[in-house]
Amino acid sequence: MLMADNHTLPSALSPSSASTFSQCPQRWKFRYIDRLPDPPGRAALLGTFAHAVLEHLFQEQPQSRTKEKAKLIASALWPETDNDPNFIALELDDQEKTEFKHDCMSAFNGVWEIEKYQPEMVDVESTELDVQVQLGDVPFRGIIDLVHREEDNLIVSDFKSGKAPKTARDEDEKMKQVLLYAAALQEENDEHIEKVRLVFIGSRTNKDYERVVTTKLMQEPVNELHQTWKEIQSSCTTGSFKTKTGPLCEWCPYVDKCIDGVNQVIQRFNAGRIRADAPAMKIFGWTGKAITQVAK
Ligand code: SF4
Repeated sequence: MLMADNHTLPSALSPSSASTFSQCPQRWKFRYIDRLPDPPGRAALLGTFAHAVLEHLFQEQPQSRTKEKAKLIASALWPETDNDPNFIALELDDQEKTEFKHDCMSAFNGVWEIEKYQPEMVDVESTELDVQVQLGDVPFRGIIDLVHREEDNLIVSDFKSGKAPKTARDEDEKMKQVLLYAAALQEENDEHIEKVRLVFIGSRTNKDYERVVTTKLMQEPVNELHQTWKEIQSSCTTGSFKTKTGPLCEWCPYVDKCIDGVNQVIQRFNAGRIRADAPAMKIFGWTGKAITQVAK
């Protein structure tokens, strides 16, 4: 850990940590400095489960990577999720729990719909690879879902259980994570990465979300990472973490600790613009009535 004046800098910066800081420095402080819990919701737990099944599956010998094997792995992993305090905290009723288990048991199946990722054909180099490397001034850390070879070329892939991007801009934004992984892996191994890919196992799509890796292409996300790290260092030194209010406040687990966020979600609630499943609804115990008292 590196010490700044008032706050302790984290020992490494991951893409998700950098992204949280860009979204809202105050939220980042709650999460990474104050270390307040950020419990995963249903979708995140489902994604974690699917990742775990695929990680174990790709560690098997190619001929053993069958759907039956995946089901066995899923059954063996299920008790871990079932007993996870974050899962218990979802307070699902019996019907919802059955649905969640069913969704978990099929979440990983999407990989068989994707031509390039037929599990028995993938030439695996590593799964869940923990890369920790210095990228310029930034102590970078990332976990890479899959590194494999296609005709001797190295490919870096990240599995996504959420929806595929709808716009080119959204796709470019999501690609930055895997481009950072490629930059880090090249820095660590000094071996060229040919392509990066996002693999949307939940979207049943064969569209390629990939980029041919070039130094120029990696430069933008690496520069952004440097900029974010500088801003984090500055915030930790001055103790000033700005709030960035917006629609994401209703999904922020710390909204009840943030006056700007409270005011933002009250406005959105009264305007009928808050989603019923947003965590803010549960945090404040809101129903359908307008709220008149605004936090000061
Ligand atoms: S509630 Fe909004 S402004 Fe406050 S910390 Fe969370 S995201 Fe940031």
